[in-house]
Amino acid sequence: MSNVTYYDTHAHFEGSPAETVALMERAFAAGVCRIVAVGGSAGLNAGALAAARAYPENVRLALGFDRDQAGSAEPGVFADTLRQLAGHAALAAVGETGMDFHYRPETADAQCALFAAQLRLADEWGLPVVIHTREADEATLRVLDETPWRGDCLRGVIHCFTGDKDFARQLLDRQMAISFSGIVTFRNADRLRESAAFVPDERLLIETDTPFLAPVPVRGQRNEPAFVTHVAACLAEVRQTTAGRVAELTSLNARKLFG
Ligand SMILES: [Zn+2]
Repeated sequence: MSNVTYYDTHAHFEGSPAETVALMERAFAAGVCRIVAVGGSAGLNAGALAAARAYPENVRLALGFDRDQAGSAEPGVFADTLRQLAGHAALAAVGETGMDFHYRPETADAQCALFAAQLRLADEWGLPVVIHTREADEATLRVLDETPWRGDCLRGVIHCFTGDKDFARQLLDRQMAISFSGIVTFRNADRLRESAAFVPDERLLIETDTPFLAPVPVRGQRNEPAFVTHVAACLAEVRQTTAGRVAELTSLNARKLFG
């Protein structure tokens, strides 16, 4: 086996403890040594916490509330919950949060408010933010611009990026890293592969978004961190380099951002 190692910057842990052990064994066998366990709801936050506790050497923790939670309580209530959770665990990031106007256009205002509240919390804590954005390009940029940020390193990551080069450029201008998931391997994703060729080395990250969106050639299966190797292979082709080089530079970027 080669000694190439990978960093999967976005996975949700929803399975039983035994399933997590099996999934982690397959990740290690594939060379995936580090994973960000990402929250987003009460259930996802609990799963991420459990994974981070079980694998403190390998799993970094992001806790937050995603767009589906928007409107069910005031943003301050969610912020208080996060403060309590952060009192019991070391956070590497806040998230995921962000906006999705494809599935939830009716809660747009509440999504913006919840997103902004978590950007403020991340700023207060000096942590990066894990951001989801779908059909909400303009609103995402607006909230980023309107919410103060005092950091001098990267502000966070746009996870599972699906936008065009122009949106990528606007996010890069706002100190964001850009993470590509299995979607970049899909047959009809030529426009996304153009974005993947465009993002500079020092802002590039890879992820699985486990358990969703398994990449080609395992599309349709339940996704898991071991499959991040397929995302790296695709990016290597698009960027005319080797998978080893993609693994190396994305791991370095991820360590800087999440530890
Ligand atoms: Zn996610």
